[in-house]
Amino acid sequence: MPKVREHSDYLRKPDWLKISLRSTTNSADVEQIVEGRCLHTICSSGMCPNKAECWSRRTATFMILGDICTRNCRFCATQTGRPLPPDEAEPDKVAESVKLMGLKHVVVTSVTRDDLEDHGATIWARTVEAIRRDNPDATIELLISDMDARPELIDVVLASCPDIVGHNIETVERLTPEVRSRAKYRTSLATLKHIAASGAVAKSGLMLGLGESEEEVLTTLADLREAGVSIVTLGQYLRPTKEHYPVRAYITPEKFEEYRLKALEMGFSYCASAPLVRSSYLADAALDAVRKVCAK
Ligand code: SF4
Repeated sequence: MPKVREHSDYLRKPDWLKISLRSTTNSADVEQIVEGRCLHTICSSGMCPNKAECWSRRTATFMILGDICTRNCRFCATQTGRPLPPDEAEPDKVAESVKLMGLKHVVVTSVTRDDLEDHGATIWARTVEAIRRDNPDATIELLISDMDARPELIDVVLASCPDIVGHNIETVERLTPEVRSRAKYRTSLATLKHIAASGAVAKSGLMLGLGESEEEVLTTLADLREAGVSIVTLGQYLRPTKEHYPVRAYITPEKFEEYRLKALEMGFSYCASAPLVRSSYLADAALDAVRKVCAK
C-alpha cells in the first residue's frame, strides 16, 4: 500500500525535545556488560531518547524473553515476528549483569510472548529470583505484558515478590485499537487491577501526542486509579521511524506539569510527567516516593 503522507510528518520537533545523544565511558561499560551476555535492553530496542543519559548513570532496562515480539504495535520500534525459544540461562545472565553494573534498582521488561503457553511467566519469576539471590539489596521493578489478564499467569510473576509491577496502558481507550496490536484497553486495566489487588505496587504509563484529547487523558488516569494503580508516567510519543504511527501533537512541558498535578490530586502516590519521561526513566525516584507515602 502506498504510504500516505500525513500532516504530522511535517511537525517540527520543538526545542524541549532536542537532547544530547553523546555516549560516555560509563555507557560503553553498560554496553559491554549487556551485549557480552547476549542480553537485550528496551533502551536500545525501543530507541529510547534517554539512552545516553541513563547508560552514563549505569542504569538500563533489561528486556527478557528475547528481542522479537509477537505483537506489532504501531508505536513500537521492537522487532516483530516469530520469537526464538526462551534462553533458560537468561535469568542468571541478568542477575550477573545487575551485579556488575552495581544497580540498586533494577527494571526488567520483556517482549510479549503470546506464543508461549505461560506467556513467559516462569522466566519472569526465575529472573526476579536470580536477581534477588545475587543482589539481595537491590529493589526490582517489572514492566510486564498484559498476559491476556490471566490471573493464574500474573500470579506466577507476583509470587516472586517484585517491589513494583507495571503494565503500560500506552494510550487512551479510543486510540487503543489503532495504535496497539491485539492488546485491549480493558484487558490492560484488568491486568493492572489484578496486580494491585494482590497487594503489589502497580504502575502504568501512557504516551501523549497520539491524537488524544485532554478529557481522554483524564479519563484514562481515572480508570488507572480505579484499577488501583499508584504510580503513573506520562511522556511524549516520538515516532521511531517514518513507518510508525505519526506524532499528532507535541505536548508542552507546561501541559505535562498540569497533568502531573491533576494525577496527584486524583490520588496517585507518584506521577512523572514530562516530554522525555519513559516508564523506566529515573524509576528509583518513584519507588522512594511510594515508600515515603507508605511510611506516613
Ligand atoms: S528511560 Fe528507561 S528505556 Fe530509556 S534509556 Fe533510560 S532505562 Fe532505558
